[in-house]
Amino acid sequence: MIPLAQRKHHSWPDDARCVVGLTLDFDGTSLERGRGQLPFGSRSHGRYSAKCGIPRFVDMFTRQNVPWTFYVSGYDAEESPDLVRDISRSGIEIGSHGYFHEGVDPGDAEPELLERTHQLLAEITGTAPRGWRSPSGHKTARTLRKLRELGYVYDSSDKDFDLPYLARYDQASGVATVRPFTSLKIDNTYLFSRLRTRESNANIFNNHIIRSKWNWQLNRELSLRVILQYSATLTQNRPGDLFGIYPLTFLPTGKNFNADFLITYLVHPGTALYVGYNSNLQNLDPALAIDPNIGGVRRSDRMINDGRLFFVKASYLFRF
Ligand SMILES: [Zn+2]
Repeated sequence: MIPLAQRKHHSWPDDARCVVGLTLDFDGTSLERGRGQLPFGSRSHGRYSAKCGIPRFVDMFTRQNVPWTFYVSGYDAEESPDLVRDISRSGIEIGSHGYFHEGVDPGDAEPELLERTHQLLAEITGTAPRGWRSPSGHKTARTLRKLRELGYVYDSSDKDFDLPYLARYDQASGVATVRPFTSLKIDNTYLFSRLRTRESNANIFNNHIIRSKWNWQLNRELSLRVILQYSATLTQNRPGDLFGIYPLTFLPTGKNFNADFLITYLVHPGTALYVGYNSNLQNLDPALAIDPNIGGVRRSDRMINDGRLFFVKASYLFRF
């Protein structure tokens, strides 16, 4: 494969010979607020953006008639709606940039956070954002799927190349619901997405999510719920080679299998007994841990159990 740096030049519209993209991050108090910190004193620098820095940039670029893009987090937009609206009205593109400028993987909360920020920016500016920049650099196949669903056309998170990272994105999904008998309902879902290079169609990653959800009402009081989910993001990266060269993506191959069992015994409405078990397997290798808090790096050949939870829960509704 030809190294990226040696690939032939990208051709720009209107035969332009050089294209410059000017972008800035709003980065107000969202970061401190997201960490539960008060943005005052030594942590007050986020307040500088809305008070001084950004109005100055807006003024300068508007005077010079320079088009540029601003990446704004949802919380900062809520804090300074008038400023964000004014920026947008002056013809500057607004892209989204997390809700609390999240520094780590927000996990299952991510789709909701992406959607909340998207809606906030669309409401404040009157235009739905089309570009996204990860606040931490973190993104997964799930992130890209949600952005695609919301109508985004580009991602401005990567910083190690001077031409656009053009890629093809494909996705497919299927749902099958089976009812072997009236009291048992099985929902099966398959979601697939992949990213490929435009020139050579080489796989950047393939993502598969397979989910099976069983709901079994054994009798009026007793029910059983089972959720099995396997998800895998398959990339070219070699297992455990965190410092190797990633030609197409930084994402390592990640595999996860989660099993969730719940037995509910409903004595009568408001009084119930629950017995549950959850188990999670991932392709993490603790022997390759570089930081005890991270717990291990990924390798593709082995799955370890990184979470088992057994619980018994009772609920009783007091009526007054
Ligand atoms: Zn930022």
